[in-house]
Amino acid sequence: MIMYFAWRIGQIIRPEDTLARLGGDEFTLLLPGLSSPEESLSVAESIRDALAEPFEVEDQELFVTTSIGIVTGPEGVSSSDELVRDAETAMYRAKAQGRARAVVFDENMHRDASERLKMETDLTKAVENGEFVPFYQPIIDLRTGRINGFEALIRWQHPVEGIVPPGAFIPLAEETGLIVPMGKFVLQAASRQLRIWQERYPAFSNLTMSVNLSVEQMKTDGIVAQLTEVIRDSGIRPELIKIEITESGIMENMDYALHVLKSFEAQNIRLSIDDFGTGYSSLSHLHSFPFHFLKVDRSFVGDMEDKRENMEIVKTIMSLAHSLDKHVIAEGVEEHSQLSLLKALGCEYGQGFYFSKPLPAPEAEAMLAENPLWT
Ligand code: C2E
Ligand code: MG
Ligand code: MG
Repeated sequence: MIMYFAWRIGQIIRPEDTLARLGGDEFTLLLPGLSSPEESLSVAESIRDALAEPFEVEDQELFVTTSIGIVTGPEGVSSSDELVRDAETAMYRAKAQGRARAVVFDENMHRDASERLKMETDLTKAVENGEFVPFYQPIIDLRTGRINGFEALIRWQHPVEGIVPPGAFIPLAEETGLIVPMGKFVLQAASRQLRIWQERYPAFSNLTMSVNLSVEQMKTDGIVAQLTEVIRDSGIRPELIKIEITESGIMENMDYALHVLKSFEAQNIRLSIDDFGTGYSSLSHLHSFPFHFLKVDRSFVGDMEDKRENMEIVKTIMSLAHSLDKHVIAEGVEEHSQLSLLKALGCEYGQGFYFSKPLPAPEAEAMLAENPLWT
């Protein structure tokens, strides 16, 4: 196959051009004397066309698509290694854009790629050095006005940059698989913390702890067993742990999610659907999921007073949840007026800056000691 492929490219190029196979299904073409990137793009196009014709191999028709990365030189490029590296960067960019593309390298790509590599290295080291900490944001029982539990939200204590929020590193952690040790760490730290608080503050013996689980974690083999063991080791009653999975994460992998959720349920661990309202759930499936709490996404709670449709969405989610016998947690409560409205609508729990931002453990503990009442 590779031979046919090389032969066809050989038909289009000029005698002075060089074709080499880099390995696997990757080829390099050296085209001396082209005067502009446009010219190389048109060569790329003819290569693509030549390869778009099906190949006949042992009576079968095979199709290939090509992703082409182009680098023009020699300005600013000092070695052939660098040339090949830049061409590869452009090729991966082409691949990422979909099938059969050609992309010309530019310096920004190099910067993106090296920034990413640096971040990946930093992140790996940070996991090893234990630079992550959970912060804790209280979840309030709106019926009593007291703290019901906390959500653990990871922060990176970067030695140079200070506290880094999860939005800046979770996507990369998911891509690289680092989310798995990271997630295990958060659950471990948070359930130990919960144990300590329950012992120190007998009024909070039923305090709960919510921990986020990303789709990438969910897809890991043995994840439920791993997390269940962490909870068991902490000595916490499993029903006081709430695993949060986003609605879009569930919808993306419905069968898998159902399997994972059921395994958690069998261990008596509670489940919340996070960011609800943003993920286009199929309502007909919702009732078959073994979850206990719906967290209404903060985008609806935020301006439900100004936008009538948001208010309607909050109301609808609430009646949907109640008809399925689930409790509702409103995210992003920032004003007292929202609190009053949510209480009037029969919402069970609230979370948001109005009550408190996510706090480092000692400050969250100070709140427990004070045991504030919100009315
Ligand atoms: P989330 O699970 O939906 O967490 C709620 C986010 O909303 C938090 O952002 C919190 O700080 C923010 N928030 C809470 N109340 C308010 C409010 O009143 N107004 C506004 N504007 N924001 C509010 P954070 O801590 O930056 O976390 C962002 C997301 O990162 C989380 O969304 C969650 O999806 C993810 N994440 C955080 N920690 C972990 C973790 O340990 N594991 C995994 N897999 N994901 C995590
Ligand atoms: Mg959450
Ligand atoms: Mg959320």
